[in-house]
Amino acid sequence: MSSESCLFCRIVRGEIPARLVAETDRAIAFRDINPQAPVHVLVIPRRHVASLAEATDGEELGALVLLAARVAREEGLEAGGWRTVINTGADGGQTVHHLHLHVLGGRAMRWPPG
Ligand code: 5GP
Ligand code: ZN
Repeated sequence: MSSESCLFCRIVRGEIPARLVAETDRAIAFRDINPQAPVHVLVIPRRHVASLAEATDGEELGALVLLAARVAREEGLEAGGWRTVINTGADGGQTVHHLHLHVLGGRAMRWPPG
């Protein structure tokens, strides 16, 4: 998958609209189009990285995780808690092949996930 045709790269470039909630020089956060909880935000690197399996830049990953925590705070999830998820590969349930971190909150999460 080239970054040219990658859905999330297209969102980063502004070619596909998204409901942005936060951005930094390295990452952006926007609402999931098919939310699985009252708050469901995706945090992605601006740079194309296909999945966590391909990730090599620890600073970039740190920036993603910290932005996820900032989004959770700004979405009012701090008191109740929230869940972060990174799906990787087929068994992980990854459907978009640009690394993304889900931030889910606003309801009690169950365990184990499906
Ligand atoms: P995955 O299953 O790869 O972990 O998560 C991909 C997520 O991207 C899904 O939760 C899906 O709803 C979301 N998604 C797919 N296409 C779009 C889109 O065009 N816009 C937004 N905002 N989210 C999308
Ligand atoms: Zn991409």
